Amino acid sequence: FTEADFYQQNFDPQAYMKEYYSMSDSREGANVFVMQNLRSLHKMFSLDELRGGTLIDVGCGPTICQLLSACERFQEIIALDYTDQNRQELERWLRNEEGAFDWVPVVKCVCELEGDREKWAEKQEKVRKKVKQVLKCDVTKANPTGPVSLPPADCIVSTLCLESACKDLPTFRSALRNIGTLVRPGGHLVLVTILGETYYAFNKQVFSCLCLEKHEVEAAVEAAGFEVTFSEAQPYEVRNESTDCRAVLSLVARR
Ligand code: SAH
Repeated sequence: FTEADFYQQNFDPQAYMKEYYSMSDSREGANVFVMQNLRSLHKMFSLDELRGGTLIDVGCGPTICQLLSACERFQEIIALDYTDQNRQELERWLRNEEGAFDWVPVVKCVCELEGDREKWAEKQEKVRKKVKQVLKCDVTKANPTGPVSLPPADCIVSTLCLESACKDLPTFRSALRNIGTLVRPGGHLVLVTILGETYYAFNKQVFSCLCLEKHEVEAAVEAAGFEVTFSEAQPYEVRNESTDCRAVLSLVARR
């Protein structure tokens, strides 16, 4: 299983975003994947209860798509990831530096879902303003941000991270307990997890994934002290060699 240090050594953020988040007519699989995720994040972050002061993004990677709907609902965002290069790549975009990934097509899609495609520049500014810190974390540690301790947030979001970070179901269950400590009682967890996936690949690197079923994720969330309030699996129909993913689970739970 490819664990955290493999990510630190081998995960190329630019190649990852190019493979999974660039939108163009010639990249049908990638587009389907991004659009599914954006739609379900839009749906979840439209729920009435999902608003508040602080949001923590766990395993943010180099990406911002998981923050595009969320930034309308929370005042401050803290992004966490294990690898240095992913945090640096995210910070490069936040500072609007040369060579940063072009998220504009993705941002426009989210604005369109929200009813006004023309608001994309405003949304980019909002994300750049609201992300206050980008910190190191390890979801397998009891205090994922140790030695730093963060005040419990109103909400945590985690997309496509735990199934990549956890080698087996017990580790997955304990990672949910670990990240659960980052959210206050009464606060929410928003999870996007791939189901039935054993690997994903890009740039000639293969990363392993914990192959999960819907009921296993739900049970793990409940065992971590949450009540599941929304859970929806969407089949992923595209077939190519870059992943054997079968479905994407979107889940909301209240601590
Ligand atoms: N959230 C992003 C990135 C997912 S890629 C997205 O939706 O596209 C998986 C991420 O998990 C990588 O950024 C990797 O650095 C991170 N990761 C792997 N092991 C981890 C661990 N033990 N703790 C925290 N993050 C980890």
